[in-house]
Parts: sequence; C-alpha cells; structure tokens
Amino acid sequence: MITPVMPTYGRFDLAFEKGEGPYLFTTDGKRYLDFGSGIAVTALGHAHPHLVAALKDQADKLWHTSNLYEIPGQRRLAERLVENSFADTAFFCNSGAEAMECAIKMARKYHSANGHPEKYRVITTEGAFHGRTLATLAAGGQAKHLEGFGPVTDGFDQVSFGNLNELKDAITAETAAILVEPVQGEGGIRPIGQDFLKGLRAAADEFGLLLIFDEVQTGMGRTGHLFAHEKSGVTPDIMALAKGLGGGFPIGTCLATKEAAKGMTAGTHGSTFGGNPLAAAVGNAVLDVMLADGFIEQVGEMAAYLWDGLGKLVSDHPKVIEGVRGAGLLVGLKCQCTNMDLVAAAQRNGLLLVPAGDNTVRLLPPLTITKEQLDEALDILEASLKELEG
Ligand SMILES: *Cc1c(COP(=O)(O)O)cnc(C)c1O
Repeated sequence: MITPVMPTYGRFDLAFEKGEGPYLFTTDGKRYLDFGSGIAVTALGHAHPHLVAALKDQADKLWHTSNLYEIPGQRRLAERLVENSFADTAFFCNSGAEAMECAIKMARKYHSANGHPEKYRVITTEGAFHGRTLATLAAGGQAKHLEGFGPVTDGFDQVSFGNLNELKDAITAETAAILVEPVQGEGGIRPIGQDFLKGLRAAADEFGLLLIFDEVQTGMGRTGHLFAHEKSGVTPDIMALAKGLGGGFPIGTCLATKEAAKGMTAGTHGSTFGGNPLAAAVGNAVLDVMLADGFIEQVGEMAAYLWDGLGKLVSDHPKVIEGVRGAGLLVGLKCQCTNMDLVAAAQRNGLLLVPAGDNTVRLLPPLTITKEQLDEALDILEASLKELEG
C-alpha cells in the first residue's frame, strides 16, 4: 500500500485553507501564527494584497511563453536584482536546487572557458544544504540524504564547518569554486561568521577560484539585509536565490558577475518555465515591497525586538533552550530538549515553527511581522517552554 502522494515527507496532521499576513487557518477553522513561512518562502506573509493583485493582473494577460521569446517582466526583474546586488546578470529557474545547479555548472564552465576544464571541483562545508538534485545532494554531502541513491556525483570536497585552514588545504589544481551558505539554514541556523567569509574571499582570489554563496534561505531581506553577505562587505562571484524571491510563487535565480558568467553563452543552459511572465510578475511585486524605503530597516528593528525577547526566554528556561543564533529574522533556538518536542508544544499552542539540524528550532516569521505579533509568538513560546519544563 502506498498513498497517492508519494510518501517522501513526514507531515504534520494539519491542513490549511486560508492565510492572512502571518496567520494560517486550518480547514476546521483554527488559527495559527505562522513562524515557518513555508520554510522562509512567504516572506511577505500570506495573501499580501500587492502580490495577489500582481498575480491576478498577470494571470488575466499571459502566463507562459518559454524562453524562446523576450520576456519583458523577466528582463525587468533581472535589471532590478543586478542594480541591487554585486551581480551583472541573472539566470531564472524555479527552485533553490536549480539555482544551485546553475551556480555549479557556471563555475565549471568558467574555468573551461578559461582553458582549464580540469578545474571542476567545488569545496563545500559540513552541515551544508544545497538542494535535492543529484549534484546539489553531493554538494551538501549529508549521508542521510545520499543513502541508496547510487554513486555520489563527483566533483565535491567537503571540509569541516568554519575551519579556514582545512579549507585552504583542500584546494587543489582541480578546484573551481568554494560554496557556502552565509548562515547554514537546514544545518541548524549556523552563521559562518564575517571573518570566515572574508577569509574565503581572500582564498578564492589567491587561488583563482570562484566564490559561490547559496542565499536561497538567507537572501531576500531575511537577515535584515537584502542579502546576508552584505553585512560582511564581502561579495561572491555567483549567488543562488529562491525561497523568498517569489513570496510563495516558485521562482529561483542564479546571479553572477560578468566575469563568472563568461562561459554562459546562448545554448549552454536553460529552463522551460524559468522566469516565465507569471513568475516574473510576482518576483517584481516582491521587489516593489522589499526595495521600498524603510522596509529592510524595519526587518532589522523587528529582529532586534525578537532577539531581545528570545534572550530573556533563554535565560529563564535554560533547561529547555540553551541559545539563540542566526541573523535578523532567520533565527535558530538551540534546544536542550528534543527540538521536535518544542515544535509540537508550540504547535499545540498555535505557533508554527520549523525544526532544523543540530537540534535547533527555526523561527522564520514573515518580514512584515509587527511587535504585537512578535509578542504573541513570545507568549506562546514561553507557555510552551514552561510545559516542557514540566
Ligand atoms: C531550501 C534550500 C535549497 C533548496 O531549495 P529548493 O527550492 O527546495 O530546491 C538550497 N539551498 C538552501 C540554502 C536552502 O535553504
């Protein structure tokens, strides 16, 4: 017996029929405060009026044409991403894993175009998550994800988290790039550190490697910067984005400098759906909101308020949670209890959270969250922590 939906997920016994801002409503009418945001995707909350209007408007006009033709909305989205980042160019796809595939292919193509096809290997760090395709699984290097799926795709060398010397020692004549998440998401909201990022840039420059940031989870305002790496002053050569970019509509992109993308000429890469008119319309609507004056600053203010409240909870309930980490509204609570117990208790009390690696629980509220709503979440968390203390 198998379910009609292939049973690849462990799901909670909850189904929602409606969302409004940070709230979700189940089919039987119960309200939840959503601090999972569909895993950092619904960055502007549910049913944001500007996104709904953009989607409906585009739906009446044109959904899809393929990339055989010019797509003005896609061009506009690319121009705006380029204007607001280190990058000169953007490739559009539909998910984070695809954005990462493009990043990996581009790094290999760059060295090949430079006459060094032997430089194809990418150095990654332990605890990483880059997606579920065969190449991105190999990049993540997690045994539990690779088990049973045959020979691991060649071309990835993993070093331990945050160890710059070990990373430099792993560089060989075959190395093409270094790939990291500025804050590991699935791995347990582990920030890689500003000095480490600077060290990576220096190492990449010294050895002629490309530096790739996977900002699929950390990007689009989540950390209180449009992109997490901005805080360090370090820029990558290639960056993958997805999750928050469509606010719930599937879209991903791989951004790059002109130099890094030099091998990506006509015919080298493609996607049937990537950046279609519907996706581009929603992506542009997300940018309308995120690039508006004061939006990103507001994320920083709300984050400071949340971190303050969480800090108090950690000092009051050290037997259940031992620390807060992350950046901005990408927050991890390192648990003393089993992380799933905290997720379950919060859920019973009406707050949705997401478990992550290293026994952490993620708080990923929409970036539009208010102080009152943060207070509501903190109250539910406190009640849940007290329950867990017994
Ligand atoms: C979610 C995630 C991915 C994969 O994105 P999908 O859209 O599920 O393919 C890749 N990298 C990071 C850092 C992520 O958080």
